[in-house]
Amino acid sequence: MKGRKLLMIPGPIEFEPDVLQAMGIATNSHVAPDFIETFGNSLELMRTVWKSPKGQPFIISGTGTLAMDMAISNLIESGDSVLVISSGYFGIRFKSILECYGAEVTVLEAPTGDVVSLDTIEEALKSKHYKALTMTHVDTSTGVLVDPKPIAHLAKKYNTLSILDGVCSVAGEEINQDDWSIDIVLTASQKAIGVPPGLALLMASEKAIQVWENRKTPVGNYYANWKNWLPIMKAYEERRPSYFGTPPVNLIVALEVSLKIICKEGINKRIKRHRYLAEAFRLGIEALHLKMLPVSNALAAHTLSAIYYPEGVDGASFSAKMNASDIIIAGGLLADIKSTYFRIGHMGSVSPNDLLAVLGALERALIELGYPIESGKSLHAFQNAIITN
Ligand SMILES: *Cc1c(COP(=O)(O)O)cnc(C)c1O
Repeated sequence: MKGRKLLMIPGPIEFEPDVLQAMGIATNSHVAPDFIETFGNSLELMRTVWKSPKGQPFIISGTGTLAMDMAISNLIESGDSVLVISSGYFGIRFKSILECYGAEVTVLEAPTGDVVSLDTIEEALKSKHYKALTMTHVDTSTGVLVDPKPIAHLAKKYNTLSILDGVCSVAGEEINQDDWSIDIVLTASQKAIGVPPGLALLMASEKAIQVWENRKTPVGNYYANWKNWLPIMKAYEERRPSYFGTPPVNLIVALEVSLKIICKEGINKRIKRHRYLAEAFRLGIEALHLKMLPVSNALAAHTLSAIYYPEGVDGASFSAKMNASDIIIAGGLLADIKSTYFRIGHMGSVSPNDLLAVLGALERALIELGYPIESGKSLHAFQNAIITN
């Protein structure tokens, strides 16, 4: 027994050995020429991954929630109307952040496992002017995938800024920020970007920067204010030393390594890999007659799967059995139904081998807990899907 566990939660994920190695190097000065080069490269590589050649990237020490806070605090002023399109826990987090900055918030909340329809969104945008709308590409609480393209299109039509929480999607789901005219796409390092927790990553459109420049009132946040960070990002990109707050040097070295791995695989190929692995995994789950939380396969994310426990199977015992098989999974997150489902992350460098290990452990756990299935069913379905792909 190697005693090595497989971390299959929706972030932090399994990291590439080269990325982890970068975390352990002797820490450089944040103004050393080679670190400036690393930071500058990382900013440039972000544009490739986000497909946003015109965007302004930000790399800040913090988590995904800081990236959300940064988007809202810089773009929204007290009294602004904002439309929150929610498909779960993280949609509602935008509401909490917006209320901190005095926004007038309207929430469109999808039924559990579903998305808000485009008609409902357009009706809301028609009824009054919203300065911005927020959407969650993959809500990690439900595993529901939203198609941001038509929503961003509507936002543009009604002169509304579009803010996409891509924390569980960037580098795992298709994103085309510039072509789709999304004003903000934000994420965190520990999800599909594949770097240990600690970085907030955000790409702002030219329009978003202009809206920020034309604010009537000052930004009500010190640390997240673009006034402090924009000159720093520009300096690193121009390969000049600068300082506002000490950047997390090792994390940024690791970020450059991971972005290079992502770009070497190719972003389109990477998205495709996430897609076919998720689809094969879902076939495995269906072969065991387990029910997914998203109401249809078209709404199921490719970065994680949210699955209901079958009747009679207790969540805590199931997790303990998975853990005993060295597979770490996540429980539910949506308050009302928390104890009824579990989540498996399959993003980043995930491979067919990882998912076979998960399905094997999952079958054993269910059988031991008395759920009547024939062993090998999910493995068979998964293998067939992978082999024919
Ligand atoms: C994880 C996650 C967040 C929060 O990120 P933190 O790094 O935990 O602050 C926000 N939105 C989504 C969709 C997430 O998956």
